[in-house]
Amino acid sequence: MKVAVYPGSFDPITYGHLDIIHRGLKVFDKIIVAVLVNSSKKPLFSIEERKKMIREATKKIERVEVDSFQGLLIDYVHKRKANVILRGLRAISDFEYELKIASTNRILSEEVETLFLMTNHKHSFISSENVKEIAKYGADVRGLVPEHVAEALEAKFSESSIWTLDRE
Ligand code: ADP
Repeated sequence: MKVAVYPGSFDPITYGHLDIIHRGLKVFDKIIVAVLVNSSKKPLFSIEERKKMIREATKKIERVEVDSFQGLLIDYVHKRKANVILRGLRAISDFEYELKIASTNRILSEEVETLFLMTNHKHSFISSENVKEIAKYGADVRGLVPEHVAEALEAKFSESSIWTLDRE
């Protein structure tokens, strides 16, 4: 069975990520979407919230598992008996960052390959960062993320505005 690990922050999952999962399933028998527990980044959503949103977004897609991991990606890939890391490429601007990670992982393990898939051009400008930025100002992000994610963003930002008002 060909298994790929699709790692990332998914803070939150977008249509861009989902496009990569759909494309990946044409190549792999199973994709493990693995949320990285990264203490150096300050995420908007907790690991559990992110996993829940990914599960909801992929519930009609078979052959997808949602998980999270801590520590080195390569160790996680070995543990899960996968030998491919799946990553998405939007534009040339992603390339340098991705090359650095892929090359480091190659040094750490010769057996694991990184496979890049290109997203549909419709999704090439979507990132979790810009979705959060837009949602923060109350704009509708329904063209960029599934409905339940848009709702979660609305709830998160209305929570934080109440919090800000409380503190003022
Ligand atoms: P990370 O913090 O690891 O970059 P992200 O959740 O931002 O985590 O991205 C995970 C992977 O998904 C990366 O390979 C990234 O390039 C890819 N990705 C993110 N958004 C898109 C998109 N709109 N189209 C294609 N790939 C994407």
